[in-house]
Amino acid sequence: MTEKINLLNLDREALAVFFAGHGEQRFRADQLSQWIHQFGVIDFDKMTNMSKPLRSRLKGCAEIRFPEMVREELSKDGTRKWLFRLDDGNVIETVFIPEGVRGTLCISSQAGCILDCTFCATARQGFSRNLTTAEIVAQLWMANRFLAGFGRRVRVVSNVVMMGMGEPLYNYRNVLPALRVFMDDFAYGLSSRRVTLSTAGVVPHILKLVDDCDISLAISLHASNDELRNKLVPINRRFPLAELLAACKKYTYAKARRVVTMEYVMLDGMNDQPQHAKELSRLLEGLPVKINLIPFNPFKGISYRCSDSHTIRRFRAMLKAAGLVATIRKTRGQDIEAACGQLAGEVRNRSMRFNEVQVAVS
Ligand code: SAH
Repeated sequence: MTEKINLLNLDREALAVFFAGHGEQRFRADQLSQWIHQFGVIDFDKMTNMSKPLRSRLKGCAEIRFPEMVREELSKDGTRKWLFRLDDGNVIETVFIPEGVRGTLCISSQAGCILDCTFCATARQGFSRNLTTAEIVAQLWMANRFLAGFGRRVRVVSNVVMMGMGEPLYNYRNVLPALRVFMDDFAYGLSSRRVTLSTAGVVPHILKLVDDCDISLAISLHASNDELRNKLVPINRRFPLAELLAACKKYTYAKARRVVTMEYVMLDGMNDQPQHAKELSRLLEGLPVKINLIPFNPFKGISYRCSDSHTIRRFRAMLKAAGLVATIRKTRGQDIEAACGQLAGEVRNRSMRFNEVQVAVS
């Protein structure tokens, strides 16, 4: 028997091609997409606007398959973390962060990560593999299922951030169709302001995004000069600040000066001093950016400490005085290790590290 095709791997364009292969018209892709992503229906027999013969053909050659949810944890602040086991045994994490009317889902793009940022728990896991489009899309589908979000007028998940485990731009091929599903009016219909991709700075793929997709971009900057950034975010050795910021500039100009978010983790004594604030202001001068200061979230076995709140406020005040927009990210879900940089999952084959894999993925 040939393997069934998992329809979660297909964006609407690819679904249309799939249906064309079955002699069906393009509107079938619209219908199927609505069943799956808007009504949460995955039983072909319940897709009543498709003919019976078509439904049975679909059953024969296609499936809608998800990873298995193995654990749900609820933080005292309402944040939820789900652990999903993939077919090959890797476990990934997805986090839901409710805040007033907004509900943000933090989605993983890889099992583990190759980047090796020194302050991030995911890095400790090593890298196993890229997630498929289906495994990425499934995280949003399952969150909707668990939060009873299907068929509601008001979206329970109103925002998606590609800020979970992994470097989304090193899984460009599978992430791109997933982003399209998130924004498709026949699927989740999220606007480009509500879909954010965070990257440590894979410059060539930031430039590709300019043509391929209209989303909000966040950059894990974390340092105000190359020397420091080489240490904290080693991918900087490959794509240094000048190149990274030039790519950001291209991105914002191509997208009508859409603001790029610069994430900056506050590490006690490392990158949080007045001289860093000054250097950062100079570095970002003239770029349409917003700086998001992230209090460092500790995890077991790490020696960094978070800057104290006075230092963080002083840092922010200096940026503001220099004319920059800067906010302080509220830490959420720390008690269940769901906060930024605490996602670890359980990764098989953790042997690969940045230097080995960078060749393989580029
Ligand atoms: N690889 C992508 C996506 C991960 S996003 C990227 O680097 O952007 C996760 C965000 O949390 C990144 O900005 C990351 O640098 C930050 N982060 C990692 N570890 C952290 C920690 N321990 N405390 C606070 N933020 C952290």
